[in-house]
Amino acid sequence: MFKDMSLIDHRVTEILAGGSATPEDALAVLRAPDDEVLALTASISRLRREHFGNTVKVNYLVNLKSGLCPEDCHYCSQALGSDADILKYKWLKTEEAVSQASAGLAGGATRVCLVSSGRGPTNRDVDRVSNMVTALKDEHPDVEVCACLGLLKDGQAEKLREAGVDAYNHNINTAESHHDSIVTTHSYADRVNTVEQAKSAGLSPCSGLIAGLGESDEQLVEALFALRDIGSDSIPVNFLMPFDGTPFEGTWELTPMRCVKILAMARIVCPDREIRIAGGREMHLRSLQAQALHLANSIFLGDYLTSEGQAAEEDLALIRDNGFVVLGADSGSSDVLSSSARHERDVSKGSGEVRAAYRDQGVSHDPVARRRGAGTELQPNA
Ligand code: SF4
Repeated sequence: MFKDMSLIDHRVTEILAGGSATPEDALAVLRAPDDEVLALTASISRLRREHFGNTVKVNYLVNLKSGLCPEDCHYCSQALGSDADILKYKWLKTEEAVSQASAGLAGGATRVCLVSSGRGPTNRDVDRVSNMVTALKDEHPDVEVCACLGLLKDGQAEKLREAGVDAYNHNINTAESHHDSIVTTHSYADRVNTVEQAKSAGLSPCSGLIAGLGESDEQLVEALFALRDIGSDSIPVNFLMPFDGTPFEGTWELTPMRCVKILAMARIVCPDREIRIAGGREMHLRSLQAQALHLANSIFLGDYLTSEGQAAEEDLALIRDNGFVVLGADSGSSDVLSSSARHERDVSKGSGEVRAAYRDQGVSHDPVARRRGAGTELQPNA
């Protein structure tokens, strides 16, 4: 542990000058006392400012196919054997996928993440997603598209690249030394292989983790160094949302302070990579979301794959209120709604009820299953 916060500041200065964090630095950040977390954030935020200024990248998820997955990832509400009460549907049609993605872009996102449940795509699935990407880019030529379709087979990454996909997401999720205790139907090596295939095809690799799966501090550090070494350009940091009906039901290992320390550790290990606060942001960071933005430089707008996030307008207010700006918002690449238009639309889709639902959750903070957007008749939260 750092005996004195001036030591971490000294290490940050060395990293700014071209050095790199050691596993000991990373562990010390994770184990910082709670009353030092504000100082820790201030110090490590220098790395975030150096590489990303005051920008926040805003990403939007479209769940193209929900549930019905044959894999057994214990943390996942869509997995084989999960009894979580989530939306389940087969592939969205191209028009619906484009319409959902367009809502996210209008809401301020610059990257759209097209995600499907399942072990991995068939070649027909790759064609289907390729058609969606072509149609989406016809309407929004500047959109950045990330596909997340599971384990890739030879040639599929190249096909996606040819279709205009910019990035491919496949999370390693946890340390290699912890992997087999959270999933048995595929291996850590399978996951790394897919990230490598994406990279080789010229897709920007996006790979991250989930914290709160019973891993040790050392395993969190192991996972971050693996992500650094694998060359992940963007690193989504998820905080476990323990859905009822999954093996992790009732697992609450994280506190807001712990989540901030995890993001600080991610930043010091990977100072120039996109660190994205992903699933579980509202549930676990709670009132520390703003502090976390001084470490991370990217968030998802609105809802997650199977659960509802806070209202998209609150996400954008979080960014604005804390002196950050949405990356690309001034470039004209996204058709962001005016605040009055957004207010009118939010009222029409009942975001007030969503906020009330969050309040009513009290201390349990159970995930709220998504019931709007992709796969439903209701407007998306964007
Ligand atoms: S994480 Fe992906 S592969 Fe694993 S169960 Fe969920 S949808 Fe299936």
